[in-house]
Amino acid sequence: MIFIDGRFKATNRGMIEAQLREITVAGRNFLFVPGPTNVPDRVLRAMSVASEDHRSPDFPALTRACLDGLKPVFKTITGYPILFPSSGTGCWEAALTNCLEPGATVLIARFGQFSHLWADMCTRLGFDVALLDTPWGEGAPVDQYLAALESDRQHRIKAVLVCQNETATGVTSDVAALRRAMNSVNHPALLMVDAVSALASIDFRMDEWGVDVCISGSQKGLMLPAGLGVTCISPKALEAAKRTSSRRCYFDYADMVAANASGYFPYTPSLQMMYALREALSMLAEEGLENVFRRHTHLAGGARAAVMQGWKLKLCAAAPKWYSDTVTAVMVPAGIDAAAVIARAYTRYNLSLGAGLSKVAGKLFRIGHLGDLNEIMLLGAIAGAEMAMLDTGISIEPGSGVAAAQSYWRKH
Ligand SMILES: *Cc1c(COP(=O)(O)O)cnc(C)c1O
Repeated sequence: MIFIDGRFKATNRGMIEAQLREITVAGRNFLFVPGPTNVPDRVLRAMSVASEDHRSPDFPALTRACLDGLKPVFKTITGYPILFPSSGTGCWEAALTNCLEPGATVLIARFGQFSHLWADMCTRLGFDVALLDTPWGEGAPVDQYLAALESDRQHRIKAVLVCQNETATGVTSDVAALRRAMNSVNHPALLMVDAVSALASIDFRMDEWGVDVCISGSQKGLMLPAGLGVTCISPKALEAAKRTSSRRCYFDYADMVAANASGYFPYTPSLQMMYALREALSMLAEEGLENVFRRHTHLAGGARAAVMQGWKLKLCAAAPKWYSDTVTAVMVPAGIDAAAVIARAYTRYNLSLGAGLSKVAGKLFRIGHLGDLNEIMLLGAIAGAEMAMLDTGISIEPGSGVAAAQSYWRKH
């Protein structure tokens, strides 16, 4: 490599580094982590706008487009969609600090890194955590939730928390069944659902399931950059928030709902993200939400065919009833480090796969298939994962995953 002058050297440094890392620099990075997901070009264009005055008389139209447009996505008539300038994690914290008294008892099952982190947050915020420890790979244990609620005759449990789609293990739980369990013992606790990797890709029904707080974020099914906490609260949650003595300010539900009523925010919202959200909501409406769910189910079927029929590998999800339509967690054979597969996929093929987190670190890699994608895009990820696995010494049949996915999709 010859350097003519400093400038040439500077612009070529990236190229040299890329060569060292064997990155294929041409073409796009294949982003197949389960969030952040691909941002559609339409959304990128929509958010490429100059800033505007967020107190102008025109601003409420944008606020309404976003908040009203979110209602069908949450499947709510009576709920209040809220946009916080945070990620999904901020909405976890908002749910707890708005609706519960300090030290209140919460019931939560832990079966993966995200449900673990939410439970951990509850502990760190001083709540009394009734923990249902569940094997990773299984879904929410509705029978154990029921047993805990049934024996809670004094109604000490003030909130029931569940992660609808455990992104770390590729497991989806039955939120409707949990609501039925709560109703069967007439338990008055609030139901709080983490739908960060489910909303706008797996069916979620705020009103029908009697969800009091739904927690999500912008960078998964909503196809936006990270940066918006997207949450929805029931009238019961809002009432609770107005009563509790717990302290919060920035994330106060009542302040937000009051300001939103006139189309404004208590503080400066991200205008560009709101334009992006408005566009993403239009895209979801054009495709039709039920078609969006069907597409995710269809894509996930192909991904699972690649893993099980093609590669003859196992999923982390322990039973079909828990298979996630947004993320597939693939167990690598014993003696292989899944981190090596992920590193190889990235440095050699420019493919980003999701890592195994904490308990399952090194044991699995994840293929995210949510948001703006189609069969051929996912075939690219399956092909890349296949090459990375072969390169790291996993004995799978070359082409087997791609062929299995192709045949699944051509049949269904
Ligand atoms: C991504 C994710 C989160 C964390 O959301 P952030 O936006 O990263 O704060 C929480 N729960 C689940 C299930 C997730 O997939």
